[in-house]
Order: sequence, then structure tokens, then C-alpha cells
Amino acid sequence: MEIKIQKESARCLKCDAVFQHEEKHHSLLRIEEKEFVREDYCLGCWSERLDGKEGADNTYSCWETRYHDPSIARATPLEQFLPLLNLCYESIAEGGPGGESMAYMCALILRRQKVFRFVREETEETGERRSVLIFLDKQNDTQIRIVDPQLTDSGLQEVKLRLEEKIAPDETGPEAGNGEEEEAVDDE
Ligand SMILES: [Zn+2]
Repeated sequence: MEIKIQKESARCLKCDAVFQHEEKHHSLLRIEEKEFVREDYCLGCWSERLDGKEGADNTYSCWETRYHDPSIARATPLEQFLPLLNLCYESIAEGGPGGESMAYMCALILRRQKVFRFVREETEETGERRSVLIFLDKQNDTQIRIVDPQLTDSGLQEVKLRLEEKIAPDETGPEAGNGEEEEAVDDE
């Protein structure tokens, strides 16, 4: 299974207005049948959407963004991080403890590769209290939510092994997931 996030659209989904370069708008990501669906709205349509009774039931993430030219060069060549990026999104869609710990591990590595930028940490109050890390996926210009699985040392080893089974070890790098994610959070 390969999960593809739709790229930022160049127009508003609702009114079809074309976004100008650097124009502010809103994006959201929904998960439908384990597929990510991305929607982009201009500011006007976004506020109408919020006023309406369209529920945010299956909205996984939404954020404000600025439209930018997708051809901007990236620091890391695509083929180097793409398998990991796909695995990350697959794991998010899979969910459960196994998926969450794998997504977390992928996110830590992608952050070191500067594909993800750490945005903030939130506490989720539904059921048990959980920490959720918000990252910006710079490749897809998408904000994603990664549950902090609070891995123990042995849990960490287990995820690393699973990761290596899925992705060649040299792609994960030697410093992959040593649990020291509490470094300075500003990657700008
Ligand atoms: Zn619109």
C-alpha cells in the first residue's frame, strides 16, 4: 500500500478561486477508508464552512497555510526520504499502538532530515491523556498529528527493528530514534 497525500491545490475546492502566490488559505486532511483526502479552501469559503453544519467528524488535521509554488527545491532529494514518508502516512492511517509507534519513529527521522518541522505539542484529553506532536510535512505542506507513544527502551528497539524490515537500514541513518527528541524544537 502506498499512501499519497494530494498536493496543495492551486484553487479553492468550493468556489474554484485560484490562489495567488503566498495567499493565505485553509487546508484540511481527512481520513476516509484509510486514504488521506486533502481539501483546500479560500478564507471566505473556510469561514462559511465553519458556520455551516458540516461536522468535522473525520477531519484529521486542519491548518492555515499560504499557497506557494510547489516547484521550490527541497534540501533532501526526494528518493532519499520518500519511502519513510510513505511509511509514516501508512502508519498513521493504520493507527493502533503499532501504527502510532511506527509513525512516531518515522516522524523523528523525517524531522532530522528536515522534511518535517516540529510545530507544537498538544495534550489530547479524550480518554487517557496523550501527548500529540504536530509536525509540518514540508514536502506536502501538510500538518500532521503524531501521537507520542511514550516508548520504553525495549519498545523503541522493537519499532526500530520493524522499521528496518520495511526500509533499508542505511536510509534511516545511524542516529535514528535514540529517544532524544527533546532537543531544541525550532528547526527554522
Ligand atoms: Zn473559496
